[in-house]
Amino acid sequence: MKEIAVRTTNHTQFVNIDARVEEAIAATGIREGICHVFVPHTTAGVTINENADPDVVADMIQALERAVPWQAPYAHAEGNAAAHVKASMMGFSQIVPVRGGKLAFGTWQSLYFCEFDGPRTRNVWVRVVPA
Ligand code: ZN
Repeated sequence: MKEIAVRTTNHTQFVNIDARVEEAIAATGIREGICHVFVPHTTAGVTINENADPDVVADMIQALERAVPWQAPYAHAEGNAAAHVKASMMGFSQIVPVRGGKLAFGTWQSLYFCEFDGPRTRNVWVRVVPA
């Protein structure tokens, strides 16, 4: 398993991690298989979405904020309940096919690390299974 450090710079931020994950895949030498990407945090997640128009990521962040506002009558005393909820909405892992040593995505797809309570230094665990 490879561990990737992701340093986020904003409170809420989607970080494209395709290149970092592909470095981890290359280090395994595995050319064909599946790549499991796991985020070991409770206020950050990982999702797949469009990499062409940056407005898509901006819209997703805005939509999540409208659905789960930071300020609301939450019980969680740490004060970051919205980040926990948004992280679970995105999920904590993704599985992507590996073809020719690369992530086998559709034309517009990328992997995004989703920060909801940054800035922080986070970890992403990558495991490649040959198939
Ligand atoms: Zn918390």
